[in-house]
Amino acid sequence: MVVLGGGVGGVVTATALRKKLPETHRVVIVDREPDHLFAPSLLWLIIGKRTARQITRPLDRLGRRGIEVIRGHIDQIAPESRRVRIVEHGGARDLEADHLVVSLGAELAPETIPGLAEAGHNFYTLAGAESLRDALAEFDGGEIVVLTATPAYKCPAAPYEAAMLILDHCRKRGIGAATRVDLYAAEPGPMGVTGPEVSARVRRMVEDSGVAFHPEHQVTRVDGPAKRIIFANEATAGFDLLAYVPPHRAPRVVREAGLVGDSGWVPVDPGTLQTRFPGVYAIGDVVGIPLKMGKPLPKAGVFAEGQAGVVAHNIARAIIGKGEPTRFDGHGGCFIETGGGKAGFGGGDFYAEPVPRITLHRPSRRWHAAKVLFEQGWLRRRI
Ligand SMILES: Cc1cc2nc3c(=O)[nH]c(=O)nc-3n(C[C@H](O)[C@H](O)[C@H](O)COP(=O)(O)OP(=O)(O)OC[C@H]3O[C@@H](n4cnc5c(N)ncnc54)[C@H](O)[C@@H]3O)c2cc1C
Repeated sequence: MVVLGGGVGGVVTATALRKKLPETHRVVIVDREPDHLFAPSLLWLIIGKRTARQITRPLDRLGRRGIEVIRGHIDQIAPESRRVRIVEHGGARDLEADHLVVSLGAELAPETIPGLAEAGHNFYTLAGAESLRDALAEFDGGEIVVLTATPAYKCPAAPYEAAMLILDHCRKRGIGAATRVDLYAAEPGPMGVTGPEVSARVRRMVEDSGVAFHPEHQVTRVDGPAKRIIFANEATAGFDLLAYVPPHRAPRVVREAGLVGDSGWVPVDPGTLQTRFPGVYAIGDVVGIPLKMGKPLPKAGVFAEGQAGVVAHNIARAIIGKGEPTRFDGHGGCFIETGGGKAGFGGGDFYAEPVPRITLHRPSRRWHAAKVLFEQGWLRRRI
């Protein structure tokens, strides 16, 4: 079994396969990074509540559970033969899998918007979140802009949470009165896939927190020296500090393998996560699953985790013949950190037709505590 990617989907798949299969079957996981990152906690890192050490774990730890960990850059995938070329320090090697699971996430492409990478902090990466934390620590008031560079990105709540947490953090530092936080979004509203009612309620949460929200502002370029953002609708916005969510695309190696479809992401059976190639599965952020309501299933760890469980179960079943086949049912939810030690929670059935059936819970200390518990459990048990 070869699992590509040591993020959420990859770690859960490899661990579940290892538990289910006898030792005679090899389970291999490949990632170019030495560490697994618990991305939801980047939002706490930005405001100084977590360090990189606290939210990462060495992938090598999986070796203790009998999983072979290869650190290397996945350079080629041949899905017909399930062969993978991995470039490591010492050279290249090829792996041939009986079952191949692609969980390579989304590639971030800030360079596709002129001036963006030079002018702002990409808080969707560990390095960018750390640079934003350092800039915020030195910030002594002025205009902070949180920007989504395209309407679709992983964790649809994250930029909204980031804006609320940043404003709360500035208030706690005593510079709230001298600080303004504006959120310019390419999309028409927060978490659009949840439908107009839930989206409007999340928007109210954001605006009630004091963040000024500007929907449907598609950035075209950023003038770094002038500290100005230029939008497609000809509006412009100035900033002293810019935090952004970059454009996403399928990783190069996945695109070059011919795995992606018209949406730019990997098409799969929404229940089994099988690609059109026998024995090749794709899960998590790299897949594009269209929903009846016209938008794709959001990219989120909760779905990568659920899909990983289904794929591992079905592969193990195909090998050892135990149990019934299962299907991913589209259920999931996410916390929405609002600042002040509170969070909301939105979740439900995203495969429901004609629109996802989502319940939104109001911000409370309980949901914030639940997120902390979830984080601690993940970092202790998952890896
Ligand atoms: C700030 C932030 C907050 C978030 N909050 C939440 C949340 O609250 N709830 C939630 O459900 N989701 C959240 N998410 C989203 C969640 O982190 C992702 O949806 C999830 O990680 C997707 O899992 P994945 O396995 O598909 O991809 P990833 O976890 O991104 O893993 C992909 C892995 O593939 C590796 N890789 C890629 N290309 C190559 C290559 N060529 N060679 C070798 N290795 C490669 C990468 O190094 C990476 O380790 C958040 C994300 C961010 C950025």
